[in-house]
Amino acid sequence: MPPGPVPLYYHQDYERHSQGAGHPESPERVKEIMRFVKENSLSVELKQPVEITQNDLQLVHSIPHIDRVRDFGVGYMDPDTFHTDETFGYCMKAAGGVLGAVRQCIDEKRPTFAIPRPPGHHAGSNYSMGFCYFNNAALAARMAQKEVEDVEKVVIIDIDAHHGNGTHDIFYDDPSVLYISTHEWGIFPGTGHQSDVGSGKGIGKTVNLPFSGGSGDGTFSSSFDEIVIPVIREFDPDLLIVSLGGDSHLMDPLTTLSLSTPGYLDLTRALMELGEKEIGGKVCFELEGGYHTYALAETFGRTMAMATNDDVPTEIRFNKIRDVDGDTDRVKEIKDTIASYWKI
Ligand SMILES: [Zn+2]
Repeated sequence: MPPGPVPLYYHQDYERHSQGAGHPESPERVKEIMRFVKENSLSVELKQPVEITQNDLQLVHSIPHIDRVRDFGVGYMDPDTFHTDETFGYCMKAAGGVLGAVRQCIDEKRPTFAIPRPPGHHAGSNYSMGFCYFNNAALAARMAQKEVEDVEKVVIIDIDAHHGNGTHDIFYDDPSVLYISTHEWGIFPGTGHQSDVGSGKGIGKTVNLPFSGGSGDGTFSSSFDEIVIPVIREFDPDLLIVSLGGDSHLMDPLTTLSLSTPGYLDLTRALMELGEKEIGGKVCFELEGGYHTYALAETFGRTMAMATNDDVPTEIRFNKIRDVDGDTDRVKEIKDTIASYWKI
């Protein structure tokens, strides 16, 4: 890894975008991460988002959808997703942050980070929903494939507690982008069954791992060992994008998954090591959900600290393990469903 501080893509607009008072997807989420960085003196270099054009957005989104997000005005796009005259500009900054981080991890072969708001993984080619308008990770993946000759195969691994239906839909028939999602089964948006494995040329290149409520360290750990890491290795990507949602955490108010902070960090460490050792350092962590702001900051901040090798003086607050043994039946069920596509 190159020496020096780790790049963190941030813009003040990430703290301005608001869904209204009391909404869980609040500016406080990014503020708390920034406080954690400061309090623990993490060696990060703040980077500005790169410019995104409407033409760029068309790599992922339909023109009617782009027009709608630009021109919607003031009101609810769905019951959870508010729109104002500023929303389109904020979305461009969010997408530009993730694109900047992805470009830099490819150029410098080192882990990079982005903490955009609004998030993106529920936005599909032709729809916005669930606090998301444009799909930041999907756009960065497509842009990287377009701009960089030796980036052909991309993995997007999504460890948000909600299924990233937008990312899933965008790449469902695309064999060049492997989408892997761990999520809680039975909550919003209701999609992401393990039998949904992709279609056409993309068959097998979607891997869904829906877990029962309560699943935590044990279940995640065995599914990473037995499915996620071997599948990424076998796919042999040129770029790894981690859609890092903090809402699989045991403290999260919107879900019942129960990862402890150390359990989360085992996952992000495994992905970072895989990225550094086997994908030439081309690994980018980009923020999705996560609604207990301190648990989110602890998870995201300590993942950044792994890349900087910083000691974090603050003690870990949430280290109680609730799911020691793991849901081995569920992991086996998922494994059996996708076994014909992968050597697992
Ligand atoms: Zn989520």
